[in-house]
Amino acid sequence: MPDPHSPAPLSPDALLRLDRAHVWHPYGPMPGREEPLVVESASGVRLRLARPAHGQDELIDGMSSWWSAVHGYRHPVLDEAVRDQLSRMSHVMFGGLTHEPAVRLAARLVEITPEPLRHVFLADSGSVSVEVAVKMCLQYWRSVGRPAKQRLMTWRGGYHGDTWQPMSVCDPEGGMHELWQGALPRQLFVDPPPATYEEEYAEQLRAAVAAHADELAAVIVEPVVQGAGGMRFHAPEYLRVLREACDAHDVLLVFDEIATGFGRTGTLFAAGQAAVSPDVMCLGKALTGGYLTMAATLCTARVADGISRGEVPVLAHGPTFMGNPLAAAVACASINLLLGQDWQQEVKRLEAGLRDGLAPAADLPGVREVRVLGGIGVVQLDGPVDMAAATEAAVREGVWVRPFRDLIYTMPPYVTSDTDLARICRAVTAAAATHGG
Ligand SMILES: *Cc1c(COP(=O)(O)O)cnc(C)c1O
Repeated sequence: MPDPHSPAPLSPDALLRLDRAHVWHPYGPMPGREEPLVVESASGVRLRLARPAHGQDELIDGMSSWWSAVHGYRHPVLDEAVRDQLSRMSHVMFGGLTHEPAVRLAARLVEITPEPLRHVFLADSGSVSVEVAVKMCLQYWRSVGRPAKQRLMTWRGGYHGDTWQPMSVCDPEGGMHELWQGALPRQLFVDPPPATYEEEYAEQLRAAVAAHADELAAVIVEPVVQGAGGMRFHAPEYLRVLREACDAHDVLLVFDEIATGFGRTGTLFAAGQAAVSPDVMCLGKALTGGYLTMAATLCTARVADGISRGEVPVLAHGPTFMGNPLAAAVACASINLLLGQDWQQEVKRLEAGLRDGLAPAADLPGVREVRVLGGIGVVQLDGPVDMAAATEAAVREGVWVRPFRDLIYTMPPYVTSDTDLARICRAVTAAAATHGG
C-alpha cells in the first residue's frame, strides 16, 4: 500500500489503491467495482483529471456536481466570499450564538421564496432538511392537539434523500430504497403524476387527501420535476390541486425544492410555475453554488407558531454545523450572483440548446423518450443503461455524465457556453447510442 503519510502528493495510482482499500463511494459496494476518475482541480465548467481518461484530460461537467455547481467551479466571486469569511471564522456553534452570514442568508431566503414562508432552519444537507421538515409537520399537529396526524402522503417516483424519513417517501419500487420496505414508516403513496394535466389524476389526489386527512400530517412532493426518482416532469397544475386539497382537509404541504430550486426549471423555484406556496419548503444543492454542504427548511408563521404553542414549545433539532458561516457566506454570494444577472435568459438558452442538441437522440434505437425542461435534459432508454459503456462514450466526447437506471441526463452549469452545451448533447447522444436496439 502507498504511504498516506508521505508529504509528497499521491500519484493517481497510489491514490486509487488507497481509495479502493478504504473509501466508500455513493451507492457503491466496498470495495468499489468501478474505478473512479481522479479529479485534480476544476474551473469554469471543466473538471481537470489527474490522469487522462480515454484521451481526455479535461471533462465538461454535464452534471453540475449533482445539480449544485450552477455557476461552475472556482468562480472568482464565490472563491472570494469563502476567503473573506475564512479570514473572520470558518465556524462557530449556533446554539446561543449567531452571525452575519447566517442571518443575511435566512433573510434573503425569506425574501426570494414564495409568501408566506417566514422562518428558516439551516441544516447541513438536503436529507437533514427533509428530516427537519417532517419533524416540523408532525410536531405542529401534536402541538395543536391532533397527535394522530403522523403519516405522510406523496406520489410515487419521488426522491427525498437517504436518511430514514426521506427514504420512507422515496419511490417504494425501483428506487434506491426498496431494501428497507418493512423497516421504514409506512407512508401513503398515490400514482406518479402524469406529464400533462388529467382531471382523473387530480381527482385521485383529492380523494387520497380527503380519505386519509385524519392521519395525514403532510403531503410532500418535488414540484414539477422528480429528480433522482426517475427524472420525470409533471404538469404544475397538480401543485394547485394539492394546495387546495391540503387546505380543505387540514393537511400541511411540503415542497422539496432541493433539486429544482434556484432557477433550474426556468422559474426561481418550481412552485412559481403554479403560483402555489407550500407550508414548508426544503432547499439545498445549488444553495451554496455547489461550494459547501448546506440546506434550509423554511416554514410559515402558522407552522412555527403552532409548534411554539405546544407542550414542548421548541423544535428539538440542532446540527453541530448548523448555520455554518463559510457555507452561509458563499450561499449569499451565490444567490446575489444568480439574481444579479439575467439568469432566466441563461436557463432559456440552455433549454433551447438541449432541445436542439438532444433531438437526434430520439431517433436512436432503444430510446424511449427525450425530454427537456429548463436546464434539464433527459434521454430515457427502453431498458437499464450499461453504465460503464455509456459513461465511457461520454468521456470520449470530453463530457462527464452519470447515468442511472434507464436514464442518461444532464443539468449543466448555467455558465455553460453554447459550444460546450453542444458537446454535452453530443456526448449524451453518444452515451445513448451504446444502448443500441
Ligand atoms: C439530492 C436531494 C435530496 C437529498 O439531499 P442531500 O444533500 O443529498 O442529502 C433531497 N431531495 C431532493 C429532491 C434531492 O434532489
